[in-house]
Amino acid sequence: MSNHLSDRIKNMSTSATLAMAAKARELRNEGKDIIGLSLGEPDFNIPDFIKESAKQAIDENFSSYTPVDGYAELKKAIALKFKRDNGLDYGLNQIVVSTGAKQSLYNVAMVVLNPGDEVILPAPYWVSYSDIVKLAEGVPVEVSTGIDTDFKMTPAQLEAAITPKTRMIWFSSPCNPSGSVYSKAELEGLAEVLKNHPDIYVVSDEIYEHINFVGDHVSIAAIDGMYDRTVTVNGVSKAFAMTGWRIGYIGAPEWIAKGCTKLQGQVTSGANSIAQRAVITALEAPVNKIQYMIDEFHKRRDLVLGLLGEIEGFNLNIPEGAFYVFPDISAFFGKTLNGTTINNASDFALYLLENANVATVTGEAFGNPNCIRISYAASEKELKEAIARIKAVL
Ligand code: PMP
Ligand code: GLU
Repeated sequence: MSNHLSDRIKNMSTSATLAMAAKARELRNEGKDIIGLSLGEPDFNIPDFIKESAKQAIDENFSSYTPVDGYAELKKAIALKFKRDNGLDYGLNQIVVSTGAKQSLYNVAMVVLNPGDEVILPAPYWVSYSDIVKLAEGVPVEVSTGIDTDFKMTPAQLEAAITPKTRMIWFSSPCNPSGSVYSKAELEGLAEVLKNHPDIYVVSDEIYEHINFVGDHVSIAAIDGMYDRTVTVNGVSKAFAMTGWRIGYIGAPEWIAKGCTKLQGQVTSGANSIAQRAVITALEAPVNKIQYMIDEFHKRRDLVLGLLGEIEGFNLNIPEGAFYVFPDISAFFGKTLNGTTINNASDFALYLLENANVATVTGEAFGNPNCIRISYAASEKELKEAIARIKAVL
């Protein structure tokens, strides 16, 4: 049979984070001692109080289809969370629960973009943004940033990237992959530019909101003039270590929320019922219940920065949140190490995998060809061992 794969899928890249994780798994199954620092996945167990509420939901027979946009009780808990943590007032008609924040992002792209609409992505950006935008027939417009601005887009860069076709801006803060956190003043600077462009919408991906080592998280929707033009995306994968439960959500202008509900009514019918019940419990809990995980990530960040800083050729910013470091390793380009010539970040990541048995992800997947991403959502022991191995092969 010939292969009739659609052009849409042929033209799409495979998720580099998931691909690297799969490769690491494969090598491990072959008996190799691989340390996986490629996937952004907390290595903690889900807190027991959340597990208990899932068990209770099974016993109480929450097994039917849920409302397409999520249980009303969950949407109420999300509305309260937005108010408590972000100072945002979203009505229940503005909230949609989906199968992971990834689906929330996909929904928004499909609902807002027409073919040819441009979406500004400050690079480095999270790996899936550009392919999700392309799937919706939008055009990603990358704005490159470097260590000099802590990988953050300046108002002048934003202004220069805007064209009559710009429809949206997508960014994450704390940022995957750079760990950068936009301050209130920096967000105000971007909002100031947008005042002159009233038809541009913002997707603010705040999934790492709680994993923030510098203090208060600021939502751009809370900045003057931004509420009606921002989609605030969040989820439970990171803060509550619930990656496999697949629950994400948005707070958005009502017309966008309605469009997302219409779309997922035809595609998934709504998110998993048991997971939704458990997330009510997770969101209603005081944030200090997960502080131990955040403290641990903070400690590991300092450890990793210290150890990587000792390796010549690694140029690092100081990530203020999330659980990644994103070193610029371009000093190695053109060099030959143990017989392998390193021409780019992909060569470098492959070299580390094959020679040090350490899985990382090339920065190319995040729109920055000079860096690699290292996830420090791993134990201290693994991190120390991985970095010692990296040092040895360089
Ligand atoms: N946004 C960012 C920035 C992420 O790192 C992730 C990681 N998975 C997601 C969205 C998607 O999260 P989820 O597991 O809720 O789909
Ligand atoms: N967000 C995580 C990462 O960037 C998980 C993988 C994924 O969803 O692509 O590694």
